[in-house]
Amino acid sequence: MQIHQIGGLGFDSNIYLVIDKVIALIDAGTGQNFEKVKRNLSKFNLKPSDIELIINTHCHYDHVGGDRDFVRAAGCEVTIHELEAELLRKGDQVITAAGALGRRLEPLEVARELHEGDRVKLGELTLEVLHTPGHTRGSICMYGREQGVLFSGDTFFCGGLGRTDLPTGDGEALARSLQELAKLEVERLYPGHGPLAERNARRHVLEALELVGYI
Ligand SMILES: [Zn+2]
Ligand SMILES: [Zn+2]
Repeated sequence: MQIHQIGGLGFDSNIYLVIDKVIALIDAGTGQNFEKVKRNLSKFNLKPSDIELIINTHCHYDHVGGDRDFVRAAGCEVTIHELEAELLRKGDQVITAAGALGRRLEPLEVARELHEGDRVKLGELTLEVLHTPGHTRGSICMYGREQGVLFSGDTFFCGGLGRTDLPTGDGEALARSLQELAKLEVERLYPGHGPLAERNARRHVLEALELVGYI
């Protein structure tokens, strides 16, 4: 199993490529830099049509805008938390912040809605869905318990917290979500923006809790 960061250009979220039995992306960026993303994929001898699954950590356009290109290329499956699936299906412009970024989200088919505790088996890596509201109502983190791998979306970053001033954001919910995350063994952290941490990453959860005023 390999995890590579292949995005994060401009307004794009980080895009994580998981190469396992299933080839998956965690978030897909805005789609504006699709040609560069394609070139990055080619370094691993992959094409967009090789992507079988996209797991979206939440509905924001900077994470889901790129889904469409992969769905078109391969008919890959898009998944997101049940509370945000409808926003993608109807092409919401407000809660997804597409409008605020001056973009337009086209309606997108969601193949599978994720729920707290669901498991997504990719091969060696099995990711568990942790519902972590706060940044948005349906934000999730994906946790590989065996490897101590956490994809945190915009819930928290290395040295920072997700915003809670956007539609459906909630600071108290974010604090509660971080308290739950602090109970986990986290070795490797793959956040939605900024650098990743491949060792001893639980310290970033604790830092985020400190920022939110809970330690
Ligand atoms: Zn983001
Ligand atoms: Zn976001």
